[in-house]
Amino acid sequence: MLKKMPLRLRLTFLTILLLTICCVGLTLILNLSAFRMVDMIEATSMTPAKSTVEEKIPSPLNDTALSIPTPPSTISQSARKGFRLESIFYMMLIISFGGALTYYISGKALKPVNELSCQMKKRNVLNLSEDIEIPKAKDEISDLTLSFNEMMHKLNEAFLMQQRFSQSAAHELRTPLAVLQTKVEVFKKKKSHTSEEYESLIEVIGNHTNRLIALVKNLLDMTNMEDLELNEEISLKNLVDDVASALSLLSKDKNILINLPSDDRTVLGNYDLLYRAFYNLIENAIKYNNANGQIDISIIFGGEKSVVEISDTGIGIPQDMQQIIFEPFFRVDKSRSRQMGGAGLGLSIVKTIIDKHNGEITVTDNKNGGSCFKIVL
Ligand code: ADP
Repeated sequence: MLKKMPLRLRLTFLTILLLTICCVGLTLILNLSAFRMVDMIEATSMTPAKSTVEEKIPSPLNDTALSIPTPPSTISQSARKGFRLESIFYMMLIISFGGALTYYISGKALKPVNELSCQMKKRNVLNLSEDIEIPKAKDEISDLTLSFNEMMHKLNEAFLMQQRFSQSAAHELRTPLAVLQTKVEVFKKKKSHTSEEYESLIEVIGNHTNRLIALVKNLLDMTNMEDLELNEEISLKNLVDDVASALSLLSKDKNILINLPSDDRTVLGNYDLLYRAFYNLIENAIKYNNANGQIDISIIFGGEKSVVEISDTGIGIPQDMQQIIFEPFFRVDKSRSRQMGGAGLGLSIVKTIIDKHNGEITVTDNKNGGSCFKIVL
């Protein structure tokens, strides 16, 4: 029941409980010691018996002599009763006053929390990026507000990324479909067709269907990596050598020299996933390289970590884009990349794979021109 109460009521209830325990204890102790004192005083006053409790001799001159004095035990009985009642009354008063005061003070103390909660309730997708004003007092509430603002910034980033992703995905899917639709409509307008026209249409349909299949496959791959095991021992050198030999035809076409690593490191992970990541990186290093260019791949010992560097002498990536290059569908030169068959998903797949292996990937400028991808595993 206590857990269901609002914080203010809970604080008040607990304080009243504490006050009651203290006050009841204190009242009991006070009563006990007061009665013991009275008993002691009574006992002392009883000793010289006649001096204090002397019966007065009745005299017609003396009015008071008519009244029979109350025996000491009766006086003390009523005094004890009075004291007991009074102490209980003050105890109740203190508890009620303490409870009311706690309710008032906790209301004041919790006011910033209530205000913060009101502000939080007003957040929605339209004002995710707006900050809540940080209270001047440097207390827990200002810390909480700061953390909330930071969380909202991250959420906003994720939300914008998601938005860009859906827009780009829709665009990428719509483009080939629109081309196909136009081609078919133009084709339908003519009654008879030559065999070349049929062949051209089939070729266009084939190309765009392949493009769509590749796109959907990449999108699915990005989301279907969850339940893969990451416990294979993988020699990074063997992995890079395998990828380079699979891409040898492509590199020979552009006469690109690939310098393979001489050192080796073993990492734990999923071979197929890492193969895919390094395939994309080395394929890009060839695709975006100049003819007769060069690719240097090295494996470096970084303490507990293994570092693979892939640097090329290609067109490079502008510095202001080096952060966002891993976002899905991002391409530096859209038309050029599309001509090469890319949809801008390669690097985001690489990043998803490296993240899944608790690694890190960054890109910088290569000293000899081009770009340098650094993968820490
Ligand atoms: P794509 O399928 O278009 O190649 P990626 O995700 O692999 O998609 O790459 C995204 C973009 O990053 C590319 O369009 C290209 O502009 C740029 N890029 C990737 N790798 C390199 C590289 N080694 N050199 C220069 N630009 C690169």
